[in-house]
Amino acid sequence: MADEWAITVRGLRKSYGTTTAVAGVDLDVARGEVFALLGPNGAGKTTTVEILEGYRRRDAGEVRVLGADPATADGAWRARVGIVLQGTGEFDELTVGEVVTHFARFYPDPDEPDAVIDRVGLTDKRRARTHALSGGQKRRLDVALGIVGRPELLFLDEPTTGFDPEARRDFWALIQELAARGTTIVLTTHYLAEAETLAARVGVIADGRLVAVAPPAQLGDRENAPATVGWLGPDGPVTERTATPTAFVAELAGRFAGEIPGLTVTRPTLEDIYLEMIGTTGAEEPA
Ligand code: ATP
Repeated sequence: MADEWAITVRGLRKSYGTTTAVAGVDLDVARGEVFALLGPNGAGKTTTVEILEGYRRRDAGEVRVLGADPATADGAWRARVGIVLQGTGEFDELTVGEVVTHFARFYPDPDEPDAVIDRVGLTDKRRARTHALSGGQKRRLDVALGIVGRPELLFLDEPTTGFDPEARRDFWALIQELAARGTTIVLTTHYLAEAETLAARVGVIADGRLVAVAPPAQLGDRENAPATVGWLGPDGPVTERTATPTAFVAELAGRFAGEIPGLTVTRPTLEDIYLEMIGTTGAEEPA
């Protein structure tokens, strides 16, 4: 089990007073997999991830992360796990270079600090004090600190919040590069395009429960959902919803001499499926 799985979770529960944050989660993440946790605000993503990181105590359940229980794991285990928490990125008067170099010393086999700074796109800011960085630059510094120890397993909690679109694309490339080197990655995100681009599988948490786990293209049986076929008819745009788009398009092709003008065939997007899923499960608890 320890070899095949980076993470195994059974019956995980956690409450804060009367608030149930995690209400019985079972989850397996394979070694080398990129896994994205989706869910609305307050669904229990951060609580789950922080228990896996060893930062929060669970009330019940079995958890193994890289073969150990995070609640009792030692420093050697901790050095194999990289963590990017939700927004820190400020270290008083220290510069970017100083902070990354300092953090590198916590690890037995760290990456070269300047190379890490380069990979997160902060080379221009190496001598800048961290309090003078923009929000997105602070987030990049967080990512640098999460990867400088060359982790086997990397946790990223909403890593691209505050990134501009170009920085987000750069970050995705960095994650794909880490994944290609065999790093197991667990991320939480509110950006469905991010989950779709990066993750081999996504898990949807609502009300502390994992309501679905699947590859993004298959979530909620998305690939078999009815499709909408659109084309340009003699009187303007026409759409038709159909469970058999291939047959429909073949029939439609017969009506036109050549190409079907303006032809589109669309299935529900990941966002459509996700919103339907959390809508029907009553995701947010009343305040
Ligand atoms: P977000 O997308 O907003 O980050 P999340 O899915 O990460 O949300 P959690 O932070 O795990 O959600 O919170 C789950 C529930 O537990 C929420 O109802 C939250 O208010 C509650 N909660 C989280 N941390 C604490 C805490 N330290 N004390 C009390 N309640 C907490």
